[in-house]
Amino acid sequence: MQNANSYWQATANNTKKRPSLFGEQKTEVTIIGGGFSGLATSYFLNCLGIKTILIEQHSIGWGASGRNAGMLTTGFKKSTAVLSKKLGTDRAKELLKMSVDCIRLVDEVAKKEKIDCSLNYNGGLKLAYKSKHFDALRREHEFMLEKFNYQTEIIPPSDIEKEINSPIYAHGGLMDPHSYAFHPLNYAIGLGDAVERLGGIIYENSQVTSVNKFKDGYIVKTENGEIVSNGVVVATNGYTTTNTNKKLTKSIMPIKSHVITTEPLPKELSKRLIPHNRVSIDTKNFLYYFRMTEDYRLLFGGRVSFVKKDNSQNNPELYEVLRRNMVNVFPELKDTKVDYQWGGTTAFTFDFMPHLGKTEEGLFYMTGFCGHGAAMSTLLGKIIASSIAEKNQLDNVLGDLPLTKIPFHNQRGKILSLAENYLKVIDKIS
Ligand SMILES: Cc1cc2nc3c(=O)[nH]c(=O)nc-3n(C[C@H](O)[C@H](O)[C@H](O)COP(=O)(O)OP(=O)(O)OC[C@H]3O[C@@H](n4cnc5c(N)ncnc54)[C@H](O)[C@@H]3O)c2cc1C
Repeated sequence: MQNANSYWQATANNTKKRPSLFGEQKTEVTIIGGGFSGLATSYFLNCLGIKTILIEQHSIGWGASGRNAGMLTTGFKKSTAVLSKKLGTDRAKELLKMSVDCIRLVDEVAKKEKIDCSLNYNGGLKLAYKSKHFDALRREHEFMLEKFNYQTEIIPPSDIEKEINSPIYAHGGLMDPHSYAFHPLNYAIGLGDAVERLGGIIYENSQVTSVNKFKDGYIVKTENGEIVSNGVVVATNGYTTTNTNKKLTKSIMPIKSHVITTEPLPKELSKRLIPHNRVSIDTKNFLYYFRMTEDYRLLFGGRVSFVKKDNSQNNPELYEVLRRNMVNVFPELKDTKVDYQWGGTTAFTFDFMPHLGKTEEGLFYMTGFCGHGAAMSTLLGKIIASSIAEKNQLDNVLGDLPLTKIPFHNQRGKILSLAENYLKVIDKIS
């Protein structure tokens, strides 16, 4: 995938160019991937006094971390009630807590390291696409309140205009005050700088071509160099290839998501469309997600297709579909210019949950954020860093979930096509 012509790139804080890896190096832990996951792992390892080298094939934040919508939302792909049924109440409670803690952690790190990443604390909306979906949101709200004393606010259809002015979202919604927004690329850039201030090393434009175990550790090779280390963390998520880890590659589905960003809107219009400036997602499988930027642009994203023939980020058709979807949501934007458009790759797992663990002793991974990794990646980086530092097991509810190989992974094009048609039908009839 190409470099992103993104709004985030256009408004990025100054970033330095880092060298590529040449020759042989030694360190304690090698980290592959310069997104939030890899950067957070390096950051927390260095905080704990452990030496790291991070290798990124392009530049810091080049992957999903510098391309996402910057919405730090609580919860997971599956609702808390569903997780509770599947994993038990205690684990669902722990997961819900993690999803709030990870947002707090991003805030804490950003403040501690003085990362200028436009954090806003206005909360998040989940908007019912149909009235049946609103019933499900109400049940989720009651479930979280009764079981976990977790406070969200249900917005009935009669009040929804106080939250959003859209003809397609008249069915009500759920407001979670713990959800935030930020500038994702600036967070990644700031984390990179913090890693280096703590003594961590980062190489850019260095693609890892192989990872091999030897008696005392690992050798990670790039075209022009190699690093010998005791441990390795694979943090390549949706961009994972067999070079870095075969097992991981077979356990994730890389799925693309695309985003458009309008020209700046008049402030009054922006306030009329989303009065409390919250981040929003809806209840469809082929969901829309959107938010205002600091300078009152609407950033609008969604999954247009899993398998469209040219699903690259330069396909104008994709962005035209997104623009039409945006106008469906906000008809007032029918003549509004789109200034930026880009796409990125996320990783989905078989159980739609993020995973962390080891594929073998000393080789750690985190992956499969299923579109919810903007904050969770920082927390998983911290958990992996402490497990490495304390030489203990990854004692964590996500670490306990088995990472299943995706059945018929080599036929994934066909599977995704079937899944796409199925989910589109479900969105129509459910
Ligand atoms: C369009 C879009 C919108 C999204 N919106 C949201 C959102 O609003 N909220 C949310 O919570 N989540 C969102 N996500 C998901 C979120 O961005 C990801 O879950 C998160 O960024 C994952 O971070 P990561 O560090 O694990 O992976 P990435 O940021 O993808 O980083 C992986 C890095 O590994 C590098 N790499 C891969 N292979 C190699 C190799 N062989 N050698 C060296 N480097 C390598 C890549 O270049 C890449 O930079 C969105 C994703 C996309 C694409």
